[in-house]
Amino acid sequence: MRPTGSLHLGHLNGAIHNWLELQQGFESFFFVADWHALTTEYKDPSGIKASTGAMVLDWLAAGLDPDKATIFNQSSVKQHAELHLLFAMIIPVPWLERVPTYKEQQQQFENRDLSTYGFLGYPLLQAADILVYGGDRVPVGEDQLSHVELTREVARRFNRYYGEVFPEPKGLVVKAARVPGTDGRKMSKSYGNSVGLGDSEEDVTARLSRMKTDTRRQRRTDPGVPEECPVYELHEIYSSDEERKEVSEGCRSASIGCLDCKKIMIGHVLEQLRPIRERREKLSVSSGLVDEVLAAGNERARQKAELTMTRVRAVMGLA
Ligand code: AMP
Repeated sequence: MRPTGSLHLGHLNGAIHNWLELQQGFESFFFVADWHALTTEYKDPSGIKASTGAMVLDWLAAGLDPDKATIFNQSSVKQHAELHLLFAMIIPVPWLERVPTYKEQQQQFENRDLSTYGFLGYPLLQAADILVYGGDRVPVGEDQLSHVELTREVARRFNRYYGEVFPEPKGLVVKAARVPGTDGRKMSKSYGNSVGLGDSEEDVTARLSRMKTDTRRQRRTDPGVPEECPVYELHEIYSSDEERKEVSEGCRSASIGCLDCKKIMIGHVLEQLRPIRERREKLSVSSGLVDEVLAAGNERARQKAELTMTRVRAVMGLA
């Protein structure tokens, strides 16, 4: 995950919850992608370091366990960069130019110059991030599948030239909810529509109480269509079958108001965030905790990555 700001409900329900399951069943690696953050934040990288500490603290508060998973910082494990460089020798530029997210993201960030070498190459750096651990499953959203496909192609080409070194990883498409923000668009810090994991109960309640609803319900007596209401999308994530039935019937018949409907969902969000907030408060008492976790994780990651690189250097005829 890129350290580009504080974490919100989208990160929690869209990614971290899956990570918590994965750390139980797999040898897992989760890292702060600070080099990846630089591909778009290179002009002003000042936020990267501050976001790193806050993000890792949020991960730990949410339940990521450094005894189960390796939690580390990308730029502290130079083997990623070395493998990226070696892959760059064998990968044709058009392979990178045709990755669908390349043009999409350039358009999305149109106020920045993303015609850089690093931005074109970031899916190749991702391939190195995965393959340097011999990763065989990569938890991704639908939109990142093309990057896993590229990683497979990179592994195949490398193996064809130098012998079987890398397994071909599979995308583990996580059935993650798209978490809507308070304006109904995908929750994102840059849209100003997010609810942060560190927000106070009052702020969470206030922001979600003002959340956009189905525009058909102008007046309390106007019936609505739950399937077209962003608040209902949150009910899909948070509420029980009975609660969903109650609010959707109430919405369709206008027998409940939007605020009543929101209150049920807000209760669940507060319940979800409370233990995270408490754990964050406890953890932040021991200053230096995040640094310790990262130092131990960096070391573990380096050892594993170095085993791969020793083989890679040998098969490529390097010292
Ligand atoms: P970002 O910080 O936007 O790069 O997000 C990092 C990861 O968090 C993404 O790859 C998604 O898995 C997840 N994520 C972020 N925002 C949302 C959202 N609104 N809904 C679901 N998942 C999200």
